[in-house]
Amino acid sequence: DPPEIKSDFYQLYDQLSEEERALQQRVRQFMEDEVRPIANEYWLKGEFPHHLIPKMAELDICGLPLKGYGSMDHSYLMEGIISLEMSRVDASISTFFGVQSGLVMGSIYFCGSEEQKQKWLPKLRTMELIGAFGLTEPKVGSSVAGGLTTKAKKEDDHWILNGQKKWIGNGTFSDITIIWAQDVDDGQVKGFIVENDTPGFRAEKQKDKMALRTVQNARLYLEDVKVPAEYKLENGNSFKDTAKVLKATRAGVAWQAVGCAQGAYEYAVDYTHKREQFGKTIGSFQLIQDLLVEMLSDLTAMQTMAFRLSQLQDEGKMTDEQASLAKVSCTTHTRSVVEKAREILGGNGILLKYNVARFVADAEAIYTYEGTKQVNSLIVGRALTGKSAFV
Ligand code: FAD
Repeated sequence: DPPEIKSDFYQLYDQLSEEERALQQRVRQFMEDEVRPIANEYWLKGEFPHHLIPKMAELDICGLPLKGYGSMDHSYLMEGIISLEMSRVDASISTFFGVQSGLVMGSIYFCGSEEQKQKWLPKLRTMELIGAFGLTEPKVGSSVAGGLTTKAKKEDDHWILNGQKKWIGNGTFSDITIIWAQDVDDGQVKGFIVENDTPGFRAEKQKDKMALRTVQNARLYLEDVKVPAEYKLENGNSFKDTAKVLKATRAGVAWQAVGCAQGAYEYAVDYTHKREQFGKTIGSFQLIQDLLVEMLSDLTAMQTMAFRLSQLQDEGKMTDEQASLAKVSCTTHTRSVVEKAREILGGNGILLKYNVARFVADAEAIYTYEGTKQVNSLIVGRALTGKSAFV
C-alpha cells in the first residue's frame, strides 16, 4: 500500500487544542461529504450550490474571531484553518464563505456602530442573511484608495448612492451589499449597508469567468439608491477604515492559497501512486519525486507563514505589511504548486474530472483579488524603504 499522503509535514495541526481539532474535522467532513462530490459539476455549470447554505450554517462558523458577535469566540488562526480546509476541496466555496464571514461581517464589525453590529451580525452569522462586499469598480481596481467613482450624497435623513461596481462576489443573490462610495461633500470613502431589493439597485451576473466559476460575481448598478442614514456604517468614514477590513481578510486569502495548493498537491501525490508508465508507478521516478518535494517545500513554507501570521493577528500585532507579504508570498507559491500538480498528471492535468485543472484556474483568481501581487508588494516595499511607490 502507498504511504498516507503527507500534507501537514511539520505537524502544525498538533498546535491546535482538542476543541480546535474537532472544529477543523467538522469542516473537513462537511467539505468531503457535501462539496467534493459536486465541486466540478457546479464549477462547470457556473452555478452556486444554494442547497449547501443551510448545511454550512449548521457548522456555525461565520465570523469566528469577531469577539462578542462571532460564533464561538474562536481565533483568527481557526478562521484561517477553516479557509484552508474549504479551499483544499473547493476554492469557490471558500471564497463565498470569505465574503460572508470576512469581508461583510468584518466591515460591520470594524466599521459599524454597536447598534449596527447588534442588528446585522447575528443574522449574518446564522446565514439568515447573505452578504456581498462592493468596493471594486469597472474603472477603479487597484486604485480604490485613490478615489471611487461611486458617489454618496447626504440628504436629510438618508443618503443617495450612484455608480457601478464590478466583480462583486455573491452579488447576484445576496440580501445585503456593503457599498463603499465617495462622499461628494467631504471626498472621503464611506461604507453603507444596502439591501439588494432597494429601488435603483441592480445586479447582473458576470458570465464566462474562467476561474472560481462557482462564485457568483456581479456587476452592480446603483441609480439614485436611497439608503437610510442608520445604514451608513458609523465608523466607516475614510479609506483607512476600509483598509482595516482588508488587512484582516488578506490573512484569510493567504490561507485560501495554502488550501488551494494543498488540494492540488494531494491529488498529485495520489496520482503518482496510481499511474503507471514503463511498467512502474510514476512515483518511482526520480524526476517525479523531485517535483513532489518542490511542491511540499513550497506548501510547508506557506503553511508555516500563514500559521505565524494568524498568531500575530490573534495577539493584535499583525501589521499591514505582514498581511500583504503573506498574501503575495502564498498566492505566488500556490501558482507554482498547482502548475507542478498539473504537470504530474500529464494530459489528465487539463481534464476537469481529474480535479487539478480546477485548482490551476482558481489559483489565478486568488492571486489577483484582495490586492494584486503588485499592490501588496508596494505595501511591503513602502515598509522596507519608507517610500510610497503607488503613484
Ligand atoms: P487593475 O487595478 O486594473 O490592475 C491591472 C494590473 O496593473 C495589475 O497587474 C496590477 O497589479 C497592476 N497595477 C495597478 N496599479 C499598479 C501600480 N501602482 N504599480 C504597479 N502595478 C500596478 N472586488 C470587490 O470589491 N468585491 C469582491 O467581492 C471581489 N471579488 C472578486 C472575485 C474575483 C474572482 C476577482 C478576479 C476579483 C474580485 N474583486 C472583488 C476585485 C479585485 O479585488 C480586483 O480585481 C483587484 O483588486 C485588481 O483590480 P483590477 O482587476 O481592476 O486590476
